[in-house]
Amino acid sequence: MNNRVYLDANATTCVDPILMGRYMSLCQEIWGNPSSAHHEGQNAKGIFLEAKRVIREILQVPPHFDIFFFSSATEALNTLIKGTVFRTLKKGERSLSQQQTILSTEVEHAAVFECIHDLVTLPFSGVVCESDFVPVGLYGAPKYSDVVRHVEEKLPSVAAFMAANNETGVVTDELPIIAKYLSSRSIPLIVDGVAFLGKSPILFHEGISAYIFSGHKIHAPKGVAVAVVDKKLKFRPMIVGGPQESKKRAGTENVPLAVIFADALRITMQSLEETYKKLRHFQCCFENELEEVFPEIIINCRHAKERLPSTSNISFPGIHGEDLLMALDMAGVSASHGSACSSGALEPSRVLLKMGMPHSQAGSSVRFSWSRLTTEQDIKEGIRRTIQTVKSYMERK
Ligand code: PLP
Repeated sequence: MNNRVYLDANATTCVDPILMGRYMSLCQEIWGNPSSAHHEGQNAKGIFLEAKRVIREILQVPPHFDIFFFSSATEALNTLIKGTVFRTLKKGERSLSQQQTILSTEVEHAAVFECIHDLVTLPFSGVVCESDFVPVGLYGAPKYSDVVRHVEEKLPSVAAFMAANNETGVVTDELPIIAKYLSSRSIPLIVDGVAFLGKSPILFHEGISAYIFSGHKIHAPKGVAVAVVDKKLKFRPMIVGGPQESKKRAGTENVPLAVIFADALRITMQSLEETYKKLRHFQCCFENELEEVFPEIIINCRHAKERLPSTSNISFPGIHGEDLLMALDMAGVSASHGSACSSGALEPSRVLLKMGMPHSQAGSSVRFSWSRLTTEQDIKEGIRRTIQTVKSYMERK
């Protein structure tokens, strides 16, 4: 169906057609193994290193950070969080002397939340871990004062916070002071920057130990993510094997994907200001026009100090979010709601529930999100079809 309106950019984005063409030709041109000493290998290695240099330049990565490629942000986050917990395990040592506390929130993406759950519930080499979650409440992001209180109580060994929430769009506006404070207590901070990338400049605030980004959220293909890691952060690799990526992530490097990530990043960051204005305009139109017709809707987290311009999380009182999603899908609009549980049924979003939102409000919420390649026509049509779908849902009730 080509008359569909895709409003689920926080889940993934289409591959930019320009990048797709370039990717295909790169796959044909650069197939050497960067670890090989011959021409093909060294050529691939040079191009791989150049992709890292470009990323460093575009993001203005300070010199005391390294750049590592991973297959996904999930893999990078797991590696950094688990690897930091196990960092003090010496060769041959089977258990750590002290219990490890991981400081985070319950509104993190599953890539972080489930990773922490795994550490807490599974016996890893005799390491005993506990989680300590800073409550975010209906504000939707951790506050500096709460982080300080939790650190004083538990003295965590590592912290993981997202720069912006992929479901609500709430930006962790106190991240700079949180990072600085954690650094003063020598607690490494892993930052999930997946939802934040492409919306505002990326700043490496004092105290950030690692910043993670995913390619498929910025119109690159799936299968590539980047972790920018402070050289001082000690972490054990999760994938071991060859000496690639300074032994921090074994496996033959995917050079074409690395180049495409750098290209996608360049396009994204070059047009950042323009894209920001466009996305904010789409958000205003979407929310205002829906509210005009349905004054009872709740724009979740609307009053957060900073909200991503790309995301509108809306509760439609009296409507089951999953029913609405299916109806929207039938009307050719792709949006999202909560996460799929093991039975295949859709549950209200963990993130919204953990914020303390009433079950009915969380259960009636739908997330709409857009990206650099969303058009004015997509938004207009998305608004029109959403209004029509909600109206006919109400009439049927
Ligand atoms: N963190 C956030 C905030 C996300 O939105 C996502 C993906 O939806 C991830 C992490 C995981 O990224 P990936 O799909 O690259 O594993």
